[in-house]
Amino acid sequence: MPERRKKRGPMIDFLLIGLIITLTTIILVIILSKDDFKFQKISASKETTSESIKSNLSTESSAFPGIRIVSDVSNDKRTPFAIHYPETDNKAFNDAVLQYITESKENYLSTMNKNKNEDKEVMGELNISLETFPYQKHYYSFVLTKMLYTGGANPEVSTKTFFINHKTGELISIETLLNNDKNNLSALATHVRNDLQKNLKLKDELFKEDLIKSTEPKWSNFNRFAIVDDSLQFYFDKYEIASGTAGSPIVKLPLSLINPLLASDFQIAMEKPTKPITIGDPNKKRIALTFDDGPHPKVTEQILNTLDKYHAKATFFMLGSRVQYYPDIARDVLARGHEIGNHSWNHPVLTKLSLESAVNQYTSTDAEIEKAINQKPTVFRPPYGATNDAINAQIPIPVVLWTIDTLDWKYRNAQQLLPNVKNNLHNNAIVLMHDIHQSTADGLDAVLAYLQGQGYEFVTVSEILPYRQK
Ligand code: ZN
Repeated sequence: MPERRKKRGPMIDFLLIGLIITLTTIILVIILSKDDFKFQKISASKETTSESIKSNLSTESSAFPGIRIVSDVSNDKRTPFAIHYPETDNKAFNDAVLQYITESKENYLSTMNKNKNEDKEVMGELNISLETFPYQKHYYSFVLTKMLYTGGANPEVSTKTFFINHKTGELISIETLLNNDKNNLSALATHVRNDLQKNLKLKDELFKEDLIKSTEPKWSNFNRFAIVDDSLQFYFDKYEIASGTAGSPIVKLPLSLINPLLASDFQIAMEKPTKPITIGDPNKKRIALTFDDGPHPKVTEQILNTLDKYHAKATFFMLGSRVQYYPDIARDVLARGHEIGNHSWNHPVLTKLSLESAVNQYTSTDAEIEKAINQKPTVFRPPYGATNDAINAQIPIPVVLWTIDTLDWKYRNAQQLLPNVKNNLHNNAIVLMHDIHQSTADGLDAVLAYLQGQGYEFVTVSEILPYRQK
């Protein structure tokens, strides 16, 4: 009201303004000191409360520079938890991790709270564990495995992953990893699905429809990934695509297999095509490992993994009758950079057959392999090495025997494989082995380690042939 205001003297105005300023200052000081106090309390005692649950938060440095591990542990009797997660100097990454952790924790505590209100006296558990995998110079994969139990029949087990460029601090998505290319996504999806379908451990456990759904070429299907050693791994939750006995399936795709699908920043250095070397170069040692009589769903796969470990290339002489049963394995052999040869349809002594039947053994296998891998086998090896000029004249590709017989079929002893190679070792050798004997797969690592130590390069039969015809 204007009348009243007019009556108020300037002294009163001055006092009122002074009072307001004083009060505001006092309030501000209280608020700030309270915040300061809170902050000090957290950092000093590292004790905080969340929904009245006491937990101990601690941060430790790790073996990886600039990456810290945060532990959040509660020993509460009803709602214990143990949570470990990574922390870097990058705020966006820390926020993303913390969002996942906070959601997991709140979800757990609120479910347990509901249980309590419904008088369900059950002891819960939340455990989030952390694995860290460095890749190349500055990439890191973090794999968080969550085990959540709130009173159901079984604990829920799930995986969350983060992949970062530690130099820039940024999070890297599966889209970025695959160069934002839908074709790369489709190819990857096929690899993942095939790998799951041929995994013997999952054989009778897969939920077929769920598997198809979870491996459709959608980005969101493949955002749980990590690069571990030489593989790109994909994680599936327990019960997501298979029964509980299968656990939480992991698909491991060798980087050498999927290298072309990756954006260039993430590719591995593949051996460049070797420059033409003068034949008989004394400084270069090479050897061609060959595996006959397969493919075999278990033994061949194990051999492929061992070869990958040494970045070794080899040649697989396959039987048409077995390719018919295991075309996927034949495709995998090719995809992983090896040579595929023809070893007849069902392993007869060709020289005892009519010429027509003998040639038939070649042509039927040639067609079966082409059907499986979309290309023709490039070399032929007759069973038992038994052939003659009449047969050879009918075969349009090189007919190749061997120079070192490991006798792996006879000894069936993993320990015997290396001595048998060593005793006959020479440059430009072609080594005969069989990918149908478990002992051969088991003994191969020692052979590769030894030969690599001796400076041998592992090449295919077609690659070694020019050096044998000097
Ligand atoms: Zn054979």
